[in-house]
Amino acid sequence: MFFKDIVGQKTIIADLIKESASGKTAHAKTFVGSPGFGTLPVALAYSRYLLCEQPGPTDACGICSSCVQMNDLQHPDLHCVFPVVQSISKTSDGLINEWRDLVKQSPYFSSFDWLKVMDEKERNPIIGVEESKEIIKKINLKSFQGGFKVVIIFGSEQMNAECSNKLLKVLEEPPLKTLFLLLAEQQLEVLPTVQSRTQITIFPRLQSIEIAGYLMEKYSIDRQTADGLASFSDGDLSTATNLLKNGEMMDGYRESFIQLMRSCFKKNVNEMMSWAEEMSTFSKERQKLFLSYALHMLRQCNVLNYLGVEHVTLTPKEFAFSEKFSPYITGNNIRQFIETMDTAYFGLERNASAKMLFTELSFQVMRHIHRA
Ligand SMILES: [Zn+2]
Repeated sequence: MFFKDIVGQKTIIADLIKESASGKTAHAKTFVGSPGFGTLPVALAYSRYLLCEQPGPTDACGICSSCVQMNDLQHPDLHCVFPVVQSISKTSDGLINEWRDLVKQSPYFSSFDWLKVMDEKERNPIIGVEESKEIIKKINLKSFQGGFKVVIIFGSEQMNAECSNKLLKVLEEPPLKTLFLLLAEQQLEVLPTVQSRTQITIFPRLQSIEIAGYLMEKYSIDRQTADGLASFSDGDLSTATNLLKNGEMMDGYRESFIQLMRSCFKKNVNEMMSWAEEMSTFSKERQKLFLSYALHMLRQCNVLNYLGVEHVTLTPKEFAFSEKFSPYITGNNIRQFIETMDTAYFGLERNASAKMLFTELSFQVMRHIHRA
């Protein structure tokens, strides 16, 4: 990964290069944002730049021995740490090959993508105390090439308390020329003790036009499809690529959405209950994606209703449904719809019972539709 390969985030990249040129690189940074905004790609390109033997004014050279080692993520002074399912491996080293393979496919993957690669049972991964011991051991070694040692911690909010307590001291006073790059999806989830010891950089969402451009170039798809995916992904490249690669998943969300709206419109409680029952069998990540999709569709219907077809990005099948349905999404209920979807989303994050949550959601949707 080079800076030139990164989608958007030009300001953040320029600041990193400026800081590196000044020779006053902060010893610990937290990049906050969804992986689909590019936190890992920027961390990797920045590591490459710092480790490069002849960095240019805008990017690493690409030909020195350090750059060659970076091509395979095999640089001895780069240490990648990520959450692991403890019954499979206690530390990242045990799964480093699987990790490298995933990064090489595309560094814009989500935590869930990583979990699916690591564990088909999708159990909860953490960064545990064994990992912190390993990190401390590694940073106390002399750097192999006499320059920086970089530790990237992907999914740093998954560090348990024991692990982060062990790391606090080295985050505060790391050995010379050591750089920690912590990646976290949400600032709130980073422990305050860790936050106060690192420099926080907030990654903004990508622009739709940046995502669409990337999708068209990398996957050779047409502009209409690219625009539709970019619009739904809400600035998140990993969501957009996941949707593209799992076309049938997108079809499933669309059909679930249509089914919910139809049952609620008819006030058919039996259908609503079986819809909730079916939703509850999906994995939590898929349930969250469905809610994001539903929110996207409701907003698009609202825009279609008020501003007309030229202002929406919908696939032909979505449009066929929205054309008839959009008159029911109005200024009288759009806020309530958004609130319902948001509440359900946070409920899932707090491990509420999915069956109850989707049952309650369907009753609320029924009330909102009939308030139009
Ligand atoms: Zn180089």
